Amino acid sequence: MKVLSAASELYPLVKTGGLADVTGALPAALKGLGIDMRVMIPAYPKVMAALENPNILLRYDDLFGGEARLIAGRAMGIEIIAVDAPHLYGRQGNPYLGPDGKDWNDNAQRFAALSMAAADVAGGAAKDYKPDILHVHDWQAALAPVYVKFRGGPKTVMTVHNIAFQGQFPASVFASLKLPPQAFSIDGVEYYGNVSFLKGGLACADQITTVSPSYAQEICTPEYGMGLDGLLRARRGVVSGIVNGIDTDIWNPATDKDIAATYTAKTIDRRAANKRAIEKRFRLDQGDGILHGVVSRLTWQKGMDIFAASIDSLVASGARLALVGTGEPGIEQAIAIAAERHPGRIGVVMGYDESLSHLMQAGCDTILVPSRFEPCGLTQLYGLRYGAVPIVARTGGLADTVIDANDAALNAGVATGFQFSPVDGPSLEHALGRAGRCYRDRALWTAMQKRGMESDVSWTRSASTYAALYNSLLNA
Ligand code: ADP
Repeated sequence: MKVLSAASELYPLVKTGGLADVTGALPAALKGLGIDMRVMIPAYPKVMAALENPNILLRYDDLFGGEARLIAGRAMGIEIIAVDAPHLYGRQGNPYLGPDGKDWNDNAQRFAALSMAAADVAGGAAKDYKPDILHVHDWQAALAPVYVKFRGGPKTVMTVHNIAFQGQFPASVFASLKLPPQAFSIDGVEYYGNVSFLKGGLACADQITTVSPSYAQEICTPEYGMGLDGLLRARRGVVSGIVNGIDTDIWNPATDKDIAATYTAKTIDRRAANKRAIEKRFRLDQGDGILHGVVSRLTWQKGMDIFAASIDSLVASGARLALVGTGEPGIEQAIAIAAERHPGRIGVVMGYDESLSHLMQAGCDTILVPSRFEPCGLTQLYGLRYGAVPIVARTGGLADTVIDANDAALNAGVATGFQFSPVDGPSLEHALGRAGRCYRDRALWTAMQKRGMESDVSWTRSASTYAALYNSLLNA
């Protein structure tokens, strides 16, 4: 089976979020299942520089304002189709923002071009390659199912990685999209009088997925649907959730070069050396008491305002905290001030530090993820893999990947972490208290760590779920 995936990001070439991880990991994960996935992405300068064995699939005299070519090739081991349209993508830096930090003013045309190219290839415009399924990601590729609906093509899958990003533009943009007039309607891209790329994709795709089953349910509600819940409820029968995996080679405590001591579930005692390294790096008091960890964007979505307000209570319970993060200035400041109040108990590194994030997972006893919403979340998956017991808000992918240590789960020996709800100070502090008590029962705690380390957080399971979805569409 041939599947064309279309997206604006692809790890490791172009990444601003989890979307890139998924588009980068799926092709290899699907290969063993007999699925040949190619990824269509804009030919940003970094993509052009990485392209090997180029082969021109299709030429355009005019793709949204200039000449363009679709070039098949390989990049970083992935089969890609680069949309080479220098007038749209030949710009350095962030894929969406200009040097002034604002959206490029032709983003509607830039990503309509990506979507149209994907729909053209899916519809058979390139003689050397025709996919059986078109799978598009997020608003940047979301017009492709709309083009397919009005021009013909294969079955389509649309994946939403975060419904907060919708690609909304004024109605005047519609004329440039080369869609028939009837596409500006409730069944197409029209959204409260404007154009919404994501809404169009959600209305026209044959199947809609998001990155966890709980988030799939949540986005059908007004609280989480960000204005698209009505449409999603109407299409509920085709909405499902598939949890992301992680790269278990990059995130492997047995071989990780960024940590002080490597270990496995069998040699978990060796984790202690990583805890010592964190104490040193964060200037924390040495000790065997519980050490909580946070690796996060410091934002409202991540619940970091609530967390900051709970720091005094965390210290009062005798726990320590190491935090690495960066984000909203108000939250950064609240955390910095709390850290000053508790030298030796709270250590903070403000900034983004990939290597340190590995050491955190390898040395902290817990990893805290108090998000208000979380489509999937990776941090808790790294925590499971590294034996840092996750303490998470019961939402989205966090709810689906961590098994709460309630009495039933503890008796059955299946717990892997702690969940709390709602996201507020009292329930967060209650969860910290539960974790602190479990931690004092060393045998229980170690068993929970090992269970997490042995749980499957790889792409294997998710890839077979995607494969089953493609198969069901082909056989429908
Ligand atoms: P989101 O993409 O919404 O930020 P995820 O949990 O899906 O949340 O992914 C976050 C990723 O970013 C994880 O890989 C996490 O380790 C990493 N990360 C977040 N903040 C930092 C930081 N300050 N330093 C290093 N890595 C970070």
